[in-house]
Amino acid sequence: MFFLNFFNVSCETIQMNVIAICNQKGGVGKTTTAVNLAFGLSIAQKKTLIIDLDPQTNASSYLGYRNSDPSRCSYSVLEKPSKINELILKVNSFLDIIPSSLSYLEDPGPRDGDSPFTRLRNAFEFLKTPYEYIIIDCPPSLGSYTYNAVNASETVIIPVQSHYLSLEGLSQIVGLFNDISNVKALEFKILLTMFEAHQPLSVEVLKEVKQYFSDKIFNIAIPYDIKLAEAPSHEKTIFDYAPLSAGAIAYTLFVKEILNGSK
Ligand code: ATP
Ligand code: MG
Repeated sequence: MFFLNFFNVSCETIQMNVIAICNQKGGVGKTTTAVNLAFGLSIAQKKTLIIDLDPQTNASSYLGYRNSDPSRCSYSVLEKPSKINELILKVNSFLDIIPSSLSYLEDPGPRDGDSPFTRLRNAFEFLKTPYEYIIIDCPPSLGSYTYNAVNASETVIIPVQSHYLSLEGLSQIVGLFNDISNVKALEFKILLTMFEAHQPLSVEVLKEVKQYFSDKIFNIAIPYDIKLAEAPSHEKTIFDYAPLSAGAIAYTLFVKEILNGSK
């Protein structure tokens, strides 16, 4: 009884911050951001869960969970939200993962008789572990995986590659937020990635994003750093692979911005 009460108290006092990393454009740094953010939060001793909702499984592989059992992956959460606790695997003392599986490359779409795209949000009600942060890595599409992720989140981070800006693409994803039922509670913020200060194109993209989304950009821009591109093949986050690199420093500052923002 004592333990039951103790557990309930802990659950109530810990505020869960759910953050989806979304952009329908491919290769903009979603997975790199999701993995390094989640790992960075675990270094800061914040109890964190990363959910790989992209059937390309890049975040799972990055954290050492390649070829996950298709019956025990993030897709299973969408199939049966109450099963969520059985699907959680451990990365380190502060970081858990629900990996993805290549078996579900096809978008499942909404289910008959189901309130659409709320399955992930419903699943969080069954969680037995009180996470401070849940980070969701989304696929490069605006299908049901991304809808489920956005619907389950309070904050959406949109990584924008500094070599290329599609304002049309950005307005499409921002438009998606209007379709989401809990839109009032939803915040979005843009993170510039692969930024190259000496490249006029990067500077131009920064100027344009600032013009349209002035108060919705992170102070830090993630620089282009080859160490960030190398790290996944070593199954190491940037903090382990190259802790003194520009990429590691930038992601450390980014994690700090997130921590300060959710105080
Ligand atoms: P997808 O849409 O396919 O899921 P994504 O948006 O998740 O892609 P990532 O996989 O994170 O993008 O990054 C795309 C490629 O760019 C990867 O090879 C990654 O290692 C590399 N990369 C990401 N960020 C940087 C960076 N700041 N500097 C250099 N390379 C980077
Ligand atoms: Mg990805």
